[in-house]
Amino acid sequence: MMNSIDKNNLLAILPNDDVLSQCMHCGMCLATCPTYELTMQEKSSPRGRIRLIKSVARGELEITPAFVKEMSYCLDCQACETACPASVKYGSMVEAARVMISNGKSGRTVGNYVKKFGMNFIIAEKIFLKITANILKFYQRSGMQKLIHKSKVMNLFSKNLSEIDKLSPRISDVFSDKIIKEINMPYGEVKHNVLFLSGCIMNVAFSEINQDTLEILLQNNCKVICPKAQGCCGSLHAHYGELPKAVELAKHNLEIFSKYDFDFLVSNSAGCGAFMKEYVHLFENDPKLAEKAKIFSSKILDITQFITSIELNKNIGTIDVPVTYHDACHLCHTQKITKAPRDFLKLIPGLSIIPLEESMWCCGSAGIYNVVEYEDSMKILERKMKNISSTKAKIVVTGNPGCIGQIKYGAEKFNVDIEVIHPATLMNRAYKNYKSS
Ligand code: SF4
Ligand code: SF4
Repeated sequence: MMNSIDKNNLLAILPNDDVLSQCMHCGMCLATCPTYELTMQEKSSPRGRIRLIKSVARGELEITPAFVKEMSYCLDCQACETACPASVKYGSMVEAARVMISNGKSGRTVGNYVKKFGMNFIIAEKIFLKITANILKFYQRSGMQKLIHKSKVMNLFSKNLSEIDKLSPRISDVFSDKIIKEINMPYGEVKHNVLFLSGCIMNVAFSEINQDTLEILLQNNCKVICPKAQGCCGSLHAHYGELPKAVELAKHNLEIFSKYDFDFLVSNSAGCGAFMKEYVHLFENDPKLAEKAKIFSSKILDITQFITSIELNKNIGTIDVPVTYHDACHLCHTQKITKAPRDFLKLIPGLSIIPLEESMWCCGSAGIYNVVEYEDSMKILERKMKNISSTKAKIVVTGNPGCIGQIKYGAEKFNVDIEVIHPATLMNRAYKNYKSS
């Protein structure tokens, strides 16, 4: 990866021919690819997309609208990487193609400018994100949202606009950085020093999950450092072609977090954890940051990994409920974390854990995929909801904010009676049950 983009040679961003030729076209990935499964077209498969990228890299194919469409139509779920016997790093290929598209002539579209504005000036800038979140909160709480939906005025602009509006996360009453202090001391003795990423969207729309995560860390002898100066990790930017901004954000966080002495950095968002592990590759050619990034990335743990690796505070109550678990793509495919979340659930007394059919199949959220490819995202979600429904569980647990929002929306849309929660929320509920018993 690179810090600046040479706009005269965007092709240089693509992986070299040796890397692209690692794909031996065996087709083992096809059955795991949601977009291939929907279309049954080779061009919408991992193998087909790698061929397209290779042709562009070799100068045999122009960047056509069809190429742009295929790169955008991919969920970047990385299920194909899990299936691939040749360990092809497909995710980095499609992300490189997106960087090239976004920064080249084909990126000069209204949609791309809107995406760039949203990513670079709202999500990346804490102050503007908070202003936007407050406006959205007013819209959601004042009755305006209900009124607009009732009036059906959105249908005049697009038939899906009101559904997309319902997909936007409900803004939290209080943002987590208002409540979580920079230094938080545990209830017992200090056994672990952990840094905590409170995130960007997590901070404003999933503040309760951040508080639950903090609470279970405090219950388990952790001194939790949550630096006020931290910012967005850059994950969404890297996945959607905004690499220079992703690098800028990563650099900022690396500098902030490296000021502290810590054992681990705990993340409660699959996408953020996955991308922070990439900082090591992002800065491998930067003499000033390479070593810092290497140490930093090696200390990233998902909350379920961290809690299952320490001695648990056993003053935990019972939750007598059938639950099931959905694997977020950036946990199971990108970070290969599948055991820790299940072991984490086993630590909560009373739960009966029901296996979910196709638990590693994407839910269709995939960053902003459910907005830009609403209809196909809903087909993917419908499949997920059918599987969830057939477990007869009362709660579905998943470790990524995007999946939580998408499955909550799916529960309403497809009439599935299920609560959707984060593992940290469930464990904190068990600790609260102990206190009140
Ligand atoms: S990342 Fe997901 S959607 Fe994209 S090619 Fe791989 S399996 Fe298919
Ligand atoms: S990406 Fe891997 S699994 Fe898919 S066709 Fe290429 S080598 Fe085979």
